[in-house]
Amino acid sequence: MTVFAMDLGATNLRVCAADGDVLLFARQVRTPAPHDLPPLLRDFAVPDCRSVGLSRAAGLDPDGRVTSWPSRPDWVGVPLLAMVEDVLRSPSRHADDGVCAALFEDARGPKPTPRPTRILSLAIGTGLGVAVVADGAPVAWGDGDGGPAHRPYPGGRRPCRCGRRGCLQTALAADALARLVAEGAMEEVVAALAAAVALANGGSGVRVVVSGGGCEGPGREFIAAALTRLGVDWEFSPVPHLSGLLGAALLASGVAVPDRARLAAGWMRGPR
Ligand SMILES: [Zn+2]
Repeated sequence: MTVFAMDLGATNLRVCAADGDVLLFARQVRTPAPHDLPPLLRDFAVPDCRSVGLSRAAGLDPDGRVTSWPSRPDWVGVPLLAMVEDVLRSPSRHADDGVCAALFEDARGPKPTPRPTRILSLAIGTGLGVAVVADGAPVAWGDGDGGPAHRPYPGGRRPCRCGRRGCLQTALAADALARLVAEGAMEEVVAALAAAVALANGGSGVRVVVSGGGCEGPGREFIAAALTRLGVDWEFSPVPHLSGLLGAALLASGVAVPDRARLAAGWMRGPR
């Protein structure tokens, strides 16, 4: 039986299908306008789909309707879950994109060292996805513009898309990071990363995994230098564009924590 997963980001929509630990395909397209999502999904739909996993940057209400998405206000009010389930005709599970990335990074685990019990995932893309997974379970935080990406950091003053100033996302998103690099503002990157790490147990016993397009751009060296200076255990994800999508596929698979490692190891080999 197959599972289907999608990672709906502000800039890119990524989709994949998996059968057990075999990744059948993975694709990326530009994130469409809301009314163009159903025909796109129909093109990617797979037969015998057991369930759908959705990684999403948007905040949803209990009915699955978009309540906030500072980077894509055109999606606010869209009944996202109903739209997805209607097209794919399968039950869905969903989580914040930061949570999905953290689930996958936790399942993947660093090798060959033992799996840590607590992962802080920072997905640096158009926005910031930030989440902690402890003992295989996501730590409950807020969602959308009430989530941890919109917590302040010391010295942060830049306007955020959410309407506030100095949110973590104003330093730890791809464009923001590129601007800080151009300004040589290393101290501000350190301050923002320190505040993000402090969200997770003050950084104690935590492994930080950085993913997203921003960790491949001009900010890569800044992030590496800043996290090394903070003295935390950290790494760049080996699949920086896929961790949210594959985390959604884990959600759809609905397997227990030990079995996630087997699926993650299979999917890391790429589509077959
Ligand atoms: Zn904000």
